[in-house]
Amino acid sequence: MSQIKIRDIRVINTNPSGSNLTVVKVETTEAGLFGLGCATFTYRYKAVTLVVEEYLKPLLVGRAVADIEDLWHLMNGNAYWRNGPISNNAISGIDMALWDIKGKMANMPVYDLLGGKSRQGVAVYRHADGANLDQVLENVHRFREQGVRHIRIQMGGYGGKASGLNTPPQSADGIYYCPDQYVQNTLKLFEHVRAKIGYDVELLHDSHERLTPIEAVRLAKSLEPFRPFFLEDLLSPEQDHWYETLRQQCSTPIAIGELFNNPQEWTHLIANRLIDFIRVHISQIGGLTPARKLAIFCEQFGVNTAWHGPGDVSPIGHAANIHLDLNAHNFGIQEWCGLDERLQEVFPGCPELRDGYVYANEKPGFGIDLDEKLAALYPCDDSVTLWTQTRLPDGTYNNP
Ligand code: MG
Repeated sequence: MSQIKIRDIRVINTNPSGSNLTVVKVETTEAGLFGLGCATFTYRYKAVTLVVEEYLKPLLVGRAVADIEDLWHLMNGNAYWRNGPISNNAISGIDMALWDIKGKMANMPVYDLLGGKSRQGVAVYRHADGANLDQVLENVHRFREQGVRHIRIQMGGYGGKASGLNTPPQSADGIYYCPDQYVQNTLKLFEHVRAKIGYDVELLHDSHERLTPIEAVRLAKSLEPFRPFFLEDLLSPEQDHWYETLRQQCSTPIAIGELFNNPQEWTHLIANRLIDFIRVHISQIGGLTPARKLAIFCEQFGVNTAWHGPGDVSPIGHAANIHLDLNAHNFGIQEWCGLDERLQEVFPGCPELRDGYVYANEKPGFGIDLDEKLAALYPCDDSVTLWTQTRLPDGTYNNP
């Protein structure tokens, strides 16, 4: 139908609020018509930028904007090797921008293009952390007062704060934690929060793939009496066949997927009904095009969505989550980290949290703009990433 073509593709990197964010702007041959997409791989943003500018832009400039499906497959296959995090994020930036453009062309929000709303607002979970039991409980109360019914409880960050470790001299620097202390403290935390506030709140927890498989199975069984809403990233993607063992032993709901890149990582877990929630990072799997297919695939097997929504997703990426959430019948819950004032200034039109639900604006496309002049005031952080340098008590490196 339309002969509108891609005129230019640019990358805007910015860090207004503590995370490197990457946005791709696709400009068209029609004056004033452009789209924005999220390509944020916060710890490797320069590599993503290079793929967009040096490889995808020459591939796509001059092509029609209308055929998103064809362009997605063209981008995905063009380098022959595929399904890696850098290429997937680069593809996502352009893919989401094309959906944004299509929405503007149709004068519809993206959720309308997907089939309209299944609900008016999107229920979210918030993250209640604290150094001790009372601090976590205080944060749980704070979120409940804001109308939030789903709260992820953690004590001392992912893996907990370890104390009294006996570590060999000259061990490498890093973030040390003790799996046994973490498990014991997490059980105490669930016991404490349930004892204080009962069951009129949904509790979630993120294990961050830090335990060995059999430790993970034991944690899931031990938490079952406290009725968690879900247990997140219990096992690393490399150990996912253990979910079969886990499923036979307890009914603790399982949410998995923020590390996934390749469809082969989720297909068997969903088709064999080994998980309850899929929570991929949608730019990490290549954008809205594969994410909407994944949501529909999950619906066939009774698996709900819980897209990854941390601080290292741009507001455009959060909007993509929210538009999918508004549409998908099998929406489960949405992670929401909160978008501060500075992010809202740089990205006018951000989704808003009100009384426990997040709402998208009703503008065409994703409904979000980017103030490039303001974005330029917040350069990215190029320091070596520290928090992923996690180690066990004897000094062995372990997953972050
Ligand atoms: Mg997580």
